[in-house]
Amino acid sequence: MLVPIFTLKLNHKVNPRMVTMGKFDGIHPCLTAATQAGKVFIHNPHTRGQRQVAHRLSQSAQDSDISLLNINQAVSCLTAGSLGPNTTGDTLLVGSQTNLLAYDVHDNADIFYREVTDGANAIVLGKLGEIPYPLAIIGGNCALQGFDYEGNDQFWTVTGDNVRSVALFDFTGDGKNELLVGSEDFDIRVFKEDELVSEMSENETVTSLCHMHGSRFGYALANGTVGVYDRTARYWRIKSKNHAMSIHAFDLNADGVEELITGWSNGKIDARSDRTGEVIFKDNFSSSVAGVVEGDYRMDGQIQLICSSVEGEVRGYLPASKEMKGNLMDSSAEQDLIRELSQRKQNLLLELRNYDENAKVHQHTHTHTEIQRHTLTLEDNAKATPGVSEGDSGMGVIPANTQLQTALAVRAATESQRAHIELSISTPNETIIRAVLIFAEGIFEGESHVVHPSAQNLSGCVRVPIIPPKDIPVDLHVKAFVGGKSSTQFHVFEITRQLPRFSMYDLTVDPDAPQPTGRVTFGINDRPQRVVMWLNQNFLLPEGIESPDVTLTCLRGGGLLSISMESNGEITLNTDDIDLAGDLVQSLTSFLAIEDLQAEADFPSYFQELRTTLTEVDEFHSVHQKLTAAIADHSNHIRNMLVQAEDARLMGDMRTMKKRYIELYDLNRDLINEYKIRSNNHNALLACLKSVNQAIQRAGRLRVGKPKNQVISACRDAIKNNNVNALFKIMKAGTASS
Ligand code: CA
Ligand code: CA
Repeated sequence: MLVPIFTLKLNHKVNPRMVTMGKFDGIHPCLTAATQAGKVFIHNPHTRGQRQVAHRLSQSAQDSDISLLNINQAVSCLTAGSLGPNTTGDTLLVGSQTNLLAYDVHDNADIFYREVTDGANAIVLGKLGEIPYPLAIIGGNCALQGFDYEGNDQFWTVTGDNVRSVALFDFTGDGKNELLVGSEDFDIRVFKEDELVSEMSENETVTSLCHMHGSRFGYALANGTVGVYDRTARYWRIKSKNHAMSIHAFDLNADGVEELITGWSNGKIDARSDRTGEVIFKDNFSSSVAGVVEGDYRMDGQIQLICSSVEGEVRGYLPASKEMKGNLMDSSAEQDLIRELSQRKQNLLLELRNYDENAKVHQHTHTHTEIQRHTLTLEDNAKATPGVSEGDSGMGVIPANTQLQTALAVRAATESQRAHIELSISTPNETIIRAVLIFAEGIFEGESHVVHPSAQNLSGCVRVPIIPPKDIPVDLHVKAFVGGKSSTQFHVFEITRQLPRFSMYDLTVDPDAPQPTGRVTFGINDRPQRVVMWLNQNFLLPEGIESPDVTLTCLRGGGLLSISMESNGEITLNTDDIDLAGDLVQSLTSFLAIEDLQAEADFPSYFQELRTTLTEVDEFHSVHQKLTAAIADHSNHIRNMLVQAEDARLMGDMRTMKKRYIELYDLNRDLINEYKIRSNNHNALLACLKSVNQAIQRAGRLRVGKPKNQVISACRDAIKNNNVNALFKIMKAGTASS
């Protein structure tokens, strides 16, 4: 069994996800982590007693191997690595909601300290695309920002929602790194510099991303899911009731391929095969894991996997030796596995016995049904062929021609039911559907849904309402238990159907519904038939739609969506939902393989809201400045008062001293109130800035390729220059010059 090669007990609490390893002198790896009260600790057991203490750094009172770095505000992310060309060792980078600090631990000096208005929730350090030097890239309030070693802002772009995780590696396999971004809108986005090249939709906030090897990477979600992707395809995933606090790629069984190491909120560490997700090793801490990193902590040339708990317990593991032959777990884990396997064997034997019983009665029919059952997993809505009914038998035999049919239909809201998509599952003969199990990501609570009609309601048809919360395509994996009315055993049919991306749109239109005022217009060089093909693939439309001009009711928002195409190839999308317009532009251009698309747009009510937000941003900024000045004033006042009170005490003038302390008390209370106001003001400002970043992102999504990037960077320039009119001009025309 694999056991830790070393353990440490650091007398410091460790903030989850804020653990890194840095060689600050270029040689010795130091475990570095954010701790409470705005401090970062640096554990350096290698160069005992050689440390000077200066500037931000101080010595820990509890542990002589630990230096404490004062950040004086809550740390939100940190990392270490090679940033500058002329520094001895790694640079430590510490992000907060307002600042990014690049610190030279070895020389006890700030390299830069930058204000970051969009905050830093996640950080990664490395090379991106063709940019020749490494960048410290932070993800915050819907924005991504990259700094070089001088603190120059060399990279900026916007993304769909608050960023929670980032990773840098060569996703496309062209030798240059892409930036992977996980955010609160459940998406994993891949950026080639500032160009969005891939987008994968998950079903919860993406809290961690880590590169494994090649184009493979691990991910973790806020709902306890961890898994592995290869490029845009998900290999496997598992879901736990605990939270994955930290993930890391490490070859623990020494077979040359990294496993996905996960540290969990219940203190468990597990290592899973990158191919199958099978657990090859696990261990337990007494408290939640905070971080999983690696380094040669014993300085003997061997890299260890190093795990830290939130209580400061640290364990290092060496990869398994050859003698262990990949058996990393102790014998009790093996026994668990044997127990589990023999249970499975029992169940399979039981199933086999049932089949044998059936086969004795209806040998021929049964094999025939089995073959059909398997073809049905591939075919959808296969036509039923006439056959001989075997009647109703308690043994669960069903007619050979039994096939499962599925249909999807849009259902508008009624008095008793919300608007939904109706999935109907039926059999063509007298057989009944005893139960239906549907597995679909992001649609049902817990991802699966079971329909189990009561005995008196049994029939050959089951209807299931489905309400996809977002416009993303969803695979519906359906399992239906089919048999006779009195059957005790059932045949399981499996079918997968895809719900098209824009399924919550209905051709039934209320003639009194107001026309949308928002629109986006662009030209394409393609035939109307191709647009019709796209419509049929992406909407749930009845057969026979032949024109690209359609008007639909948006079943989620209630407004109208009109799509029209002129004979010169100009397409206009009319909707008040700018997000929907962006999704449609992206979907249509990807279907037609259009790489660059310029567009003109106007979303009057949305732009009006944005104008209000921009005014608020100005107000919050000026309030912020006033409050900062007032607080500085008060602080000076307090200092004077304290000196006066102390003087009075030394003179024995207790009355004056008391009076001064009462004044001091009042002033202090005012100061605390002012601080609260400032803090509320700051949070309101952040919310506004998020809206502004989202608006830039939305304006970008109405375009594709170069025009998209141009719109995003021109919008940012307009905001930097406080030129509101230019901003709206760009969002509408797609360019600043015309
Ligand atoms: Ca690449
Ligand atoms: Ca391995």
